Amino acid sequence: MEYSIELHPWDLAEEGVEQTLATVVGLGARCMSLTASWPGRAVLRPRAAAQRMYFPERAAVYFRPEESRWKDSPLKPFPSELVMIEDYFETLPLRAQREGLSVEARVVFLPYVPPPGAPPKRLMPGQAKPFPVEKLYVRNAFGDRLPGYLCPAHEEVRRYFIDLVSDVTRHAVSSVALESFGYPLFDFGSMPGSAVLAAAPAAQFLMGVCFCESCTARGEAMHIDISPLAWRVRNFLERVLSGEGAPVPPLTESPDGLGEIDELLPAYLRLRNDIVGTLVRDLRAALRKDVRVVSVPGSRFPAAQAWREGGEVARLAAGSNVIRLQGNTPDTGALVLDITRARERAGGRAGIGLKLSPGPPHAPTYETFAEKVAVARDLGLESLAFSGLGELAHAHLKWIARAAEGGP
Ligand SMILES: [Zn+2]
Repeated sequence: MEYSIELHPWDLAEEGVEQTLATVVGLGARCMSLTASWPGRAVLRPRAAAQRMYFPERAAVYFRPEESRWKDSPLKPFPSELVMIEDYFETLPLRAQREGLSVEARVVFLPYVPPPGAPPKRLMPGQAKPFPVEKLYVRNAFGDRLPGYLCPAHEEVRRYFIDLVSDVTRHAVSSVALESFGYPLFDFGSMPGSAVLAAAPAAQFLMGVCFCESCTARGEAMHIDISPLAWRVRNFLERVLSGEGAPVPPLTESPDGLGEIDELLPAYLRLRNDIVGTLVRDLRAALRKDVRVVSVPGSRFPAAQAWREGGEVARLAAGSNVIRLQGNTPDTGALVLDITRARERAGGRAGIGLKLSPGPPHAPTYETFAEKVAVARDLGLESLAFSGLGELAHAHLKWIARAAEGGP
């Protein structure tokens, strides 16, 4: 079983390449999963010598995009300022190879933010109108757009995703890890005003389900009459939002449970697995053969929940070499069950890997962490990825080396 560890370019910039490589080798890892695209979430760096908190640019990429590729594209990657100093995708793979390490490009796809440089307010004669990016964002049953959350049903979004991943794999990377590339699982729970949805997970989920032009067209091509379906979903949500205690079906392991809202809703939701599954398959076909595709579902229990993001494991397996599951649950029994089922659904087409973070809240003691590592080993998983090198406390970093050696 191969071990890999996630790594951000800002950690490399501060720690230096030599020191970082020595740390990674000391952990027993064979692969570094280097951030190629990051949503902009701020990061706390417990061991940092200088900057303990890092606030990355929103939705930036950490490699120099190939200019000719993006000239006529309506969506364009926005390179971080860090890339102006050094593009680690150019320099790191060769240096890492000498230490027996490979480099993976970690692409956290959404959200998208148009590169800075506001479009002109008044167009000059002959000047093309700026592309209306907001038309590509997820639009829910009420018509609300979720800014930055590109819907994967649009051709422009699919092209952009494939071009972005192809661009970074020009470099000598051995694999790409894909995150948040399907339908976004938008967290409404933390939004002020969302208390009325707190006890209704199905309603929270449906608040983010897309009914944009492209999803509608794809649904209608499958003979699903979208207009009455969207009307019933809206109606259901309005009853929940009224706070009058409307009955809410449970959010189960398949979309079938939502059939009581509208009998065509399960088929519409299943269609999203086709849209996302074929996106990964098309990406696979576009990439160099020797680059491995690692799909990382956002759901905590992908075998049971990933249909919500259109990432049903069986469909992802058709275009992926590895499905990397989230191991972030304190319940090892539930984790084993999900691994077993994910493996059944992948049906041997893709290997199963696991992503783990040492330390609280999901592995509060070394024993709980070592137990999960042992599970991965005993079940013969393909690989184990550990969360961000720069995000780990010193004590938890030591756990990785100890567990990787099979220490008690
Ligand atoms: Zn859509």
